[in-house]
Amino acid sequence: MSESAQLEPVRWPTGAAEPEIADLLSLADQCVKCGYCLPHCPTFKFAHDEGESPRGRIALIQGWLSGAIDDGPRVQFHLDQCLECRACEPNCPSLVRYGTLMDGARAVREQRRSIWQRGLRRVRLGLLTRPLGLRLVAVIGIGYRWLRLPQWLIVRASTYWPAIQVLHPLARALRWPRKHIPMGIGVDRSAQGLMSGSLSRSNLSRIPNPASGHTRTVRSSGGKTGPAPALFRGCIARLTDQPLEAAALRLLTRLGYPPVVPDEQGCCGAIHRHNGYPADADQLVAVNTQAFAGRPVIGLASACVAELQEQGQVNAIEVCRFLLDHPWPVEARLQPLPLTVAVHEPCSHRNQLRDQGAVYALLRRIPELAVTPLPGNDTCCGAAGTYLIEHPEFALALAAPKIDALQEIKPDYLVTTNTGCALHLAARLRSAGLKTEVLHPIQLIERQLII
Ligand code: SF4
Ligand code: SF4
Repeated sequence: MSESAQLEPVRWPTGAAEPEIADLLSLADQCVKCGYCLPHCPTFKFAHDEGESPRGRIALIQGWLSGAIDDGPRVQFHLDQCLECRACEPNCPSLVRYGTLMDGARAVREQRRSIWQRGLRRVRLGLLTRPLGLRLVAVIGIGYRWLRLPQWLIVRASTYWPAIQVLHPLARALRWPRKHIPMGIGVDRSAQGLMSGSLSRSNLSRIPNPASGHTRTVRSSGGKTGPAPALFRGCIARLTDQPLEAAALRLLTRLGYPPVVPDEQGCCGAIHRHNGYPADADQLVAVNTQAFAGRPVIGLASACVAELQEQGQVNAIEVCRFLLDHPWPVEARLQPLPLTVAVHEPCSHRNQLRDQGAVYALLRRIPELAVTPLPGNDTCCGAAGTYLIEHPEFALALAAPKIDALQEIKPDYLVTTNTGCALHLAARLRSAGLKTEVLHPIQLIERQLII
């Protein structure tokens, strides 16, 4: 996929944020019930139940929205179990927009809840996405770390409440969200590329902190010039991915593309949209559209980039694709790294951006690095936005074959372009006793860069 390629924007015919029942039924009617999608659906592979397949869910949505079947717990159970991984979409010969349909069906369900239920659910989503909510979550995480609960207690508690197995490592990963990205965070003192290059830890602090009023232009490999890029920070990643943010800022700066980082930017809106609150998601799109003011926006998390591209108002580009499509300074070199890296392909990168090849192409620029796909990349790891928290047992079951594969390969690194996948897989690796380091691909590139 080229830099200019963007996902098709999602708009309802009426232009409204909330879909009409007729819109959803017309989307569902595009399904010819051929079943080609079934073998690609993780929930169907596990349950072997038609209700747990894309075809079955589409039929349930048709029956429910047309009034032919009751809005009972069984219908809602099957809709809730969907990961929205969208592995069904690329395998559908009728090009059914399954993700759009599921988002719409969930929006209708939310409209039918009481005002109190809606209020509570929006507060919960706000905790993961709004600045005040993120600070509250960070306080909880910091407090939890401070408690230093003994391991035996966590193991014991997780037999009664499996969610602890996913919540415990998440809580430990939370940090205070910083307004500005500190450039020195996550600097690996032993990284040869950095220590032998011209950019030492001491002079990192002299790189100007990018300001939103920047007026530079940049040149792409096609020779076109345009405004300097901006960096998209997302929401929960501000609490969990601070070393990645700092590495991205250092890398882009060293390669001649120091991004601006507007303070006014917000969450991409994906969490709201997939949980049935499209109007809230659209508000966040509007905030970002204004904050980025037409600049190219570099995103580090594939799920956020996919959401921004699907809404079509922010010119978002995934960071690996950006680095491939833009020339590097002639003096830039990557140090050889005679180790092995396994590549985990997030569903958002495979099924929405459909550009996971960019990760391999970028990593293969590192001499002597053995790059191998993680077996089972066609199946979701179980992170899937808020799914990990809401369905911890199934999320753990989906991660298990990936950890088994990593036990076999024993790579030195596992790379992934999505925040939730990185947190989930790192936690599962730790609990399996594996020392494999989990990184974003650009963190490996930054470590090896000499300039
Ligand atoms: S492949 Fe497409 S058309 Fe066929 S059953 Fe699945 S969603 Fe329907
Ligand atoms: S989005 Fe994923 S889990 Fe949901 S029906 Fe499609 S393949 Fe199955």
